Amino acid sequence: MSLPMEKHNLATIVERRDLAEDLWLIRVDPGGPFKFVAGQYATLGIEHEGKRIERAYSIVSSPYEDTLEFFIELVPQGELTPRLYPLRVGDTMHCRKIPKGRFTLDLKSGRTNHFLLATVTGIAPFVSYVRTIYKDWKNGANSMPGPHKLFCLQGGSRSWEFGYRDELEKFAAECPWFKFATTISRPWEDPAWGGETGRVDDLVRKYTDQWGLKPADTTAYLCGHPNMCENGQGILKRAGWQKGSMFEELYFQPAKEA
Ligand SMILES: Cc1cc2nc3c(=O)[nH]c(=O)nc-3n(C[C@H](O)[C@H](O)[C@H](O)COP(=O)(O)OP(=O)(O)OC[C@H]3O[C@@H](n4cnc5c(N)ncnc54)[C@H](O)[C@@H]3O)c2cc1C
Repeated sequence: MSLPMEKHNLATIVERRDLAEDLWLIRVDPGGPFKFVAGQYATLGIEHEGKRIERAYSIVSSPYEDTLEFFIELVPQGELTPRLYPLRVGDTMHCRKIPKGRFTLDLKSGRTNHFLLATVTGIAPFVSYVRTIYKDWKNGANSMPGPHKLFCLQGGSRSWEFGYRDELEKFAAECPWFKFATTISRPWEDPAWGGETGRVDDLVRKYTDQWGLKPADTTAYLCGHPNMCENGQGILKRAGWQKGSMFEELYFQPAKEA
């Protein structure tokens, strides 16, 4: 190992699950203490030709778990993901010791409904919220969820991209404070799918109505694909949401139009 490691730990993959040829989940042992809040991200990287290539990855796991979980999409033309993709259980990667990010649950505004909108891997911080609150709810360790309710809508192209659907549907069946819906945008590639179709942003109005979400009592969180985040906020804005009640976590910058 030639690069300095004062700011990094060597994280080891302890579990891997592939969902599709370009989507996989890993659990890593962070290789040292790693304190974070649900909704934050870790910076993962590898050393390549004497340089560190690193990127941000939202943490799926809750701070109560002793491993970190990530949900990653392969970007074939990318610098890092084609190098992360071949890594298997036992392989290592660099993980910055300090988590980052402010995409955490808004518990200060007084709005007690939380509308969570995600494309595919953008579900990661929301799984972390729900796992964390579930544990608090079961243990009675603190005041969560109290009056807080989470309403989550996830979109993908096809249904096998919903890495956490089973888990989130189970939470939704058990927890009076959590609702979950999914939609796919390419039903012709997934003929067995009988659920919602269309993009997440197409369904924003339907679900704000169905779940009774109003700007006065609801904070919106949009995570993942930049087009969904932009369109979704446009729709929410026209429905009365104001800037300070919508938060976004953009996973990448859209390519500039030629
Ligand atoms: C706060 C934060 C959290 C993130 N969390 C996750 C996460 O949980 N899971 C995850 O998979 N990614 C996540 N990302 C994206 C991640 O940081 C990388 O950008 C992504 O993995 C691509 O890295 P790369 O080096 O392979 O591609 P790069 O070399 O960074 O990108 C190559 C080109 O592809 C474009 N691009 C990047 N990502 C995509 C994409 N998904 N679809 C289409 N084009 C893209 C870029 O704009 C660029 O033009 C997150 C990003 C941020 C800022």
